[in-house]
Amino acid sequence: MTALTYRYVALTDTGLRRAENEDSGYASERLLVIADGMGGAAAGEIASSETLHVIRQLDRDLDIDAIDALDRAVNDANKRLAEIIARDPSVEGMGTTLDAMLWDGEKFAFAHIGDSRVYRLRRGELQQISTDHTFVQSLIDEGRISKAEARVHPHRSLILRAMLGRDDNGADLSWVQPVLGDRYLLCSDGLSDMVEDHVIATALGAETIDMAATDLVRLALEGGGVDNVTVVIAEFVERGTDPDEHLSSHDGQPQLVGAAASQARPRTGNAASGNDDTSTFDPEELRYAPRPPSRRRWVRWTAALLVVAAILGGGGYWAYQWSQDQYYVSAQDGRVAVFRGVQADIPGLTLSRVDETTQIELTSLTDFQRREIEDGISASSKSDALKTIEELDVIPPAAPLPSAPAPSAPAPAPDPAATTPAAATDAAWRP
Ligand code: CA
Repeated sequence: MTALTYRYVALTDTGLRRAENEDSGYASERLLVIADGMGGAAAGEIASSETLHVIRQLDRDLDIDAIDALDRAVNDANKRLAEIIARDPSVEGMGTTLDAMLWDGEKFAFAHIGDSRVYRLRRGELQQISTDHTFVQSLIDEGRISKAEARVHPHRSLILRAMLGRDDNGADLSWVQPVLGDRYLLCSDGLSDMVEDHVIATALGAETIDMAATDLVRLALEGGGVDNVTVVIAEFVERGTDPDEHLSSHDGQPQLVGAAASQARPRTGNAASGNDDTSTFDPEELRYAPRPPSRRRWVRWTAALLVVAAILGGGGYWAYQWSQDQYYVSAQDGRVAVFRGVQADIPGLTLSRVDETTQIELTSLTDFQRREIEDGISASSKSDALKTIEELDVIPPAAPLPSAPAPSAPAPAPDPAATTPAAATDAAWRP
């Protein structure tokens, strides 16, 4: 068998719509990595860059099996994210995709989690060798929708697995065996959402991999450029082939791009900056964190404490009136419900009640959304709360659907407590 080595290139662009680049990319003689951060603004940059910085520690001589080394590094990266979140709860909910390919001299150990992709171009044929951990991919697997339908599905960017700083969410690990002439492309969804596979195939086959990288990024920008776009490409050549001085990798130096190459590092302060205005909402937060949880949790506890302080200080009536303008979405008897008042577990004190229940069962939500709901999602008004419910990604039951049920119809039998809310709530917390 011909002894192989590869040439490489990494390229990123912030895109046309975003102010920041939350992608990180890395390419060297031993290691190819892409990480697409999410969680909004700085949090996504931190998630992708910190993950990449941990993973690239593998870029050295290893004394263990490459796949074991990669497995350990993924765990270490998750621990690193957990530490950062523990120190700065304002970044909770951040996460990142990860694709890492570690070369052991003969083959790649490959780790994959999320919806960044790895493609292989072999003799002109493009094949996606990673499987997206997305809601739409699960629908494709079940035969419910086609790949073409997935491209335009309203929830196409919803990820089911990502690096989140938890140890219950490992990466898929496998071996990949390249042959001479293979090209591998690792890319963020900023490319694969904008550019169709057959176009990627043509561009990836450009005369050189540097040209291919430039072409692919250009195509993503021409396709709309709504997201950060990052590509990492490797091309297999015979070992001992002279470096091509026209290629950016001819100097043998690693290439680091995107958030990991900038100065984004974990902060010690509060990332929220007190701005809870939904007009500054970053669509990227929707990918894994439908609402910024810790920031609202902080707001919620502050609100509860203010109400308690007002009651103790004799401002009970004012505090009660104010609390009745507050809403949040949480769970009641296993179903999603709108609550009025402020949410707090203070013994002997009830500051909220069910305002409206829905037919949405918690079991029909993704794990992440179920936890969010159980935890409570604050809303600025009742209509905001209902909007939050409308935006939930309700997973349809596996059996064929009868006529589509209304997602948020009011419950037929209201909670008896809700019929006399003011009296009940008032009584509960008058000193
Ligand atoms: Ca992205």
